[in-house]
Amino acid sequence: MFTSIATCSLSGALELKLRAIAQAGFNGVEIFENDLLTAQSSAREIGTLIRELGLKCTAFQPFRDFEGMPDNLRPQVFARIERKFDVMEELGAELLLICSNVSPVSSGDRGRIVADFRELGERAARRGLRVGYEALAWGKHVWDHREAWSIVRETGHPAIGLILDSFHSLARAIPTESLREIDPARVFLVQLADAPALQMDYVSWGRHFRNMPGQGELPVIDFVAELLQKGYSNVMSLEIFNDRFRSSSASAVALDGHRSLTLLYDQVARRIAPRLTPALPPRARVRGVEFLEFAANENEIGQLESLFTSLGFSRAGKHKSKEVTRWRQNGINIVINSEPDSFARAYGSMHGASVCALGLSIENVPSALSRAQALQIRRFSQPIVPGEMSIPSLHAIGGSLIYLMEAGSEAEVWDTDFMPVNGGSGGRGAGLLRVDHVAQTMHYEEMLSWLLYYVALFEVSKAPVVQIADPLGLVQTQTIESAEGGMRITLNGSSSPQTLASRFLQGFHGAGVQHIALASADILASARRLRELGLATLPIPPNYYEDLQARFGLDQQLLAQLKELNILYDRDNDGEYFQLVSRAFAKRFFFEIVERRGYRAFGAANVAIRLAAQSRYRDDAQIGP
Ligand code: MG
Repeated sequence: MFTSIATCSLSGALELKLRAIAQAGFNGVEIFENDLLTAQSSAREIGTLIRELGLKCTAFQPFRDFEGMPDNLRPQVFARIERKFDVMEELGAELLLICSNVSPVSSGDRGRIVADFRELGERAARRGLRVGYEALAWGKHVWDHREAWSIVRETGHPAIGLILDSFHSLARAIPTESLREIDPARVFLVQLADAPALQMDYVSWGRHFRNMPGQGELPVIDFVAELLQKGYSNVMSLEIFNDRFRSSSASAVALDGHRSLTLLYDQVARRIAPRLTPALPPRARVRGVEFLEFAANENEIGQLESLFTSLGFSRAGKHKSKEVTRWRQNGINIVINSEPDSFARAYGSMHGASVCALGLSIENVPSALSRAQALQIRRFSQPIVPGEMSIPSLHAIGGSLIYLMEAGSEAEVWDTDFMPVNGGSGGRGAGLLRVDHVAQTMHYEEMLSWLLYYVALFEVSKAPVVQIADPLGLVQTQTIESAEGGMRITLNGSSSPQTLASRFLQGFHGAGVQHIALASADILASARRLRELGLATLPIPPNYYEDLQARFGLDQQLLAQLKELNILYDRDNDGEYFQLVSRAFAKRFFFEIVERRGYRAFGAANVAIRLAAQSRYRDDAQIGP
């Protein structure tokens, strides 16, 4: 696949965008005219830079309001286009993108439009250039690729072809089967973008919310599968207009763009095999979260240990050569790492005691590592002592790590590297069984990037974005989940500066784990035991329980126990959900204890209650749980 990206997808000056595009591994670039107009370098210098960077200029775009203009404006339109042909020659661009006319004075007369394209074909051919016609979803007369294709076919000029754009076609819900009617040799360029499912006008949706394939909810895989099945083998170019990308670093967005195309091609190849052969190993299957690693220094280690004790964990092992201890309760392992000169220590110095790594139990770790490499996800390595296990790890959110452990062989690591303490089994505990989910909070601008990271590497599905009301603004949350629920991660971000999510980012100096939910099979018993153990929990206002009763008509005895123990409740068609929330540790992270009775969601209805309860402590200077 020949990969390309339009410069309008990235932030910054044109010269910097080009370098970021080349660095990310793209083969080509579409030059967006506005980027050229605002560049310091001339078109000729930009063309030279493109070639020096090893890129090909795949298109110059857009030329607007071309076809069907009134007679009095027509000469001016052709004069303007000849000037753009001059610029293209200077750039070394061979293809001009013309998008369907939006001008109120334009005509939809088919004869006139075809005549315009025939004349344009002659002019382009004289210069050895080509022109592609793209139907905008908001075009005045032409807003459907079937109509644009019909015009191209009727024009019948070899210099005039079709440009397809997944956003414009899929936003209009034009059936992808219609692509089978198009001769792939006449498609000069395919532009790709995904988008969230939103109810809004096409212009606002398309100019502000497009995102990369894999980040949205449009059937981009179906779209590309039709084209590749039919034999299209030309350029695949990202063209993404997104406000968040415009405020992010060009190099990070370019890297994500390349990753999204690699992922897309892989998904399409699997869909239409054996027509195409997947180039990557399959997405990694996650069985579960094997451990959570906390970084801590000497000052915070005692507080962390007393928190874990109050959650029912007991020390189960000590690392043979490092200042690392293993805490355990049933299927949950917590590692406290206070080793000097280690990754964890550096992480802890920056963020304070907190989760610095997730250890995932994975099927076929070598395959997962090879996929990560193909997706340009960097590996991390640190020195190990001879005789110790080396657990491969990847750079992850906010400078943290993800360790990959081979499913079924996890015990080998614990047995090889740790000396058992207290028999190694952990203590009586509080009935907490496994990690239910992990909530990561990040800058709003980063959410799509980390979403792509997870869906590209792991076999997970993503739920639609949910908006949640914090007392001081809005928070967006999106969940990814492996098939059997072994890994569930919620990604949270907020563009309101005073929400709990934003205050977390300020206090934490970046993105990270804000809460960890641990599963119990009997939350009432767990809550009573945790109370005995001294866990500080979040008080929930009595009004909440009044409303619960009104909404669900709960048994009075159960309601009284929920109220007494500060347990939140939700119910949907799948089942029931119970949540108990701990006070935060150093205003940094907190735990949730959850019980699921068939319920598969995350208690979105309760988040506003929880956020309001937590925000009552926002001016509280207390350090500690
Ligand atoms: Mg387009």
